[in-house]
Amino acid sequence: MEFTPPPLLEARDLAYARNAEPVFGPLSFTLRAGETVLIEGDNGSGKTTLLKVLCGLLAPSAGEVRLCGAPLTLARLSHQVALLGHALGLKLELTALANLRFAVGLGGIRPGITPMLALASVGLGGYEDLPLRTLSAGQKKRVALARLLLVPAALWLLDEPYANLDRGGIELVNRLLEDHARRGGAALVTSHGAYAYTAGTPRRIALSQPSALGPQPSP
Ligand code: ADP
Repeated sequence: MEFTPPPLLEARDLAYARNAEPVFGPLSFTLRAGETVLIEGDNGSGKTTLLKVLCGLLAPSAGEVRLCGAPLTLARLSHQVALLGHALGLKLELTALANLRFAVGLGGIRPGITPMLALASVGLGGYEDLPLRTLSAGQKKRVALARLLLVPAALWLLDEPYANLDRGGIELVNRLLEDHARRGGAALVTSHGAYAYTAGTPRRIALSQPSALGPQPSP
């Protein structure tokens, strides 16, 4: 009988509420090696909150997150998951190269790549020794994308990866996602829909806003 490996990520009846107000869920889905899944929803529909729950930054109100068939733990997270959030997690006083070396020191490195090569492949060859604070928002985003290329984590959780990027940057994200899927990785990508995801037709999960009508006027 053929062995089917467990999904890289599984959400089981996952829900999050703040002060008893539902933010998202309950949601159930799996993400397997080679898959890219797009989480779509308007501003405020809970995309960032979902990613925070999936990577253990927020505890779910209900349900469970499983990584490779096992419950989420900090040790598994640090080796198996790479997060690209709105806050990029880069140190502004360090150079682009030093930031990547720091990331590799924490998260390890994939065989066959170096921080220099990663910077070149996101279009930042020649920017290695510049302090992060002197780079544009889009260039900082590219350094964060280079970090994804370096660390060996198979599961990428990307919160609005297209934000701040020019057309070439958007194509770069799509290329990185395709390459990652081809290597057997998987990615969950959020988007509020303003940036087209052009590569293939990824599976989509729509988050609807529990408070879709917005704050109600007081009577
Ligand atoms: P999205 O990423 O889809 O734009 P978020 O997950 O950031 O949405 O936010 C979902 C809802 O939770 C929004 O109504 C937002 O105002 C609220 N929210 C987000 N973060 C906080 C917070 N730290 N404290 C209180 N409410 C928050």
